[in-house]
Amino acid sequence: RFLSPRGARVQQITVCVRKRPMSRRELQGKAVDIISVPNRDSLIVHELRHKVDLTKFLEHHKFRFDYTFDEACGNTLVYEHTARPLIRTMFEGGNATCFAYGQTGSGKTHTMGGEFCGKVQDCTTGIYALAARDVFSELAKPKYRDQGASVTCSYFEIYGSKVFDLLLPEKPMLRVLEDGRQQVVIVGLTQMPVTKVEEVLGIIEQGNRERTSGQTSVNIKSSRSHAVFQMSLFLPGKCEACGKCSFVDLAGNERGADTQSANLQTRREGAEINKSLLALKECIRALSRHSSHLPFRGSKLTQVLRDSFIGGEQNKTCMIAMISPGLSSVENTLNTLRYADRVK
Ligand code: ADP
Ligand code: MG
Repeated sequence: RFLSPRGARVQQITVCVRKRPMSRRELQGKAVDIISVPNRDSLIVHELRHKVDLTKFLEHHKFRFDYTFDEACGNTLVYEHTARPLIRTMFEGGNATCFAYGQTGSGKTHTMGGEFCGKVQDCTTGIYALAARDVFSELAKPKYRDQGASVTCSYFEIYGSKVFDLLLPEKPMLRVLEDGRQQVVIVGLTQMPVTKVEEVLGIIEQGNRERTSGQTSVNIKSSRSHAVFQMSLFLPGKCEACGKCSFVDLAGNERGADTQSANLQTRREGAEINKSLLALKECIRALSRHSSHLPFRGSKLTQVLRDSFIGGEQNKTCMIAMISPGLSSVENTLNTLRYADRVK
């Protein structure tokens, strides 16, 4: 079994939480930080409540996870304890999957795709890029180099129940088919062969740009879609990947706006997102219980990630639940933490 840098065994399912720092706007508005992270595996939400006589009291909700990251933790540290141990899984022939879950604005894209400097995103600082670097250092080892192992990249988006290729101009829609052996294929998905990190960075940058192009604000449409970045390992003479890493920047899990919205489109999107996040939870739970019933057809997201949930013990999954620190997000934050808690 692979040992992580800290010597601990890599569990099949790891669930972590990351709290983002207060934004400049939140600080200016004197927003209240309601999250404390007392140590590396627990987290407390201090919820302000009112009694019947309107006197105020604080309710403390305590949660435990495999790892909790406070606002001072950077992407590199988060990567070390979440996605990094998964790289080995891919090289051992398994499917490794890392999810960023949470409400819009909680830091999913910052963590996965790279840090924002204003509107400009530096893709080199995200988990996709950090993982690519480790994939290439592994690939350079004689064991893999001598076998002629190679890697390809894909980057696509799931919006509603449609799949779009982020590596082609104008991100065309692709069809998803399931063959007689329940193998799921995204027809025509770009599988870009890559030979060095710089090429992967170019791909991530291109995909990130495609993801947000044509939008006035980064968070309008990208927050309503799931983005999936994949690296697959191939050995000569085999046409099927012999190991895969998938990184998923999930759609925002907030609900309030959808249920109240009179806009049919928004409500439909919300219902579809909700369905896919529920299906995802069920699939991860099925994986953790080694259940033979795998409800992957519950959504397009789980259908295209089917490989992540089958294959038994050699597959590994990590969920990073992102939370905002402010009082105004308390409901979404508690929802996020309860979801993450149930996935464990
Ligand atoms: P999401 O993808 O979950 O909607 P984003 O990643 O777009 O959220 O983050 C929302 C904003 O918060 C961005 O402006 C981003 O720069 C900032 N942000 C998120 N996480 C962090 C962090 N850990 N450190 C600093 N800024 C962050
Ligand atoms: Mg985002």
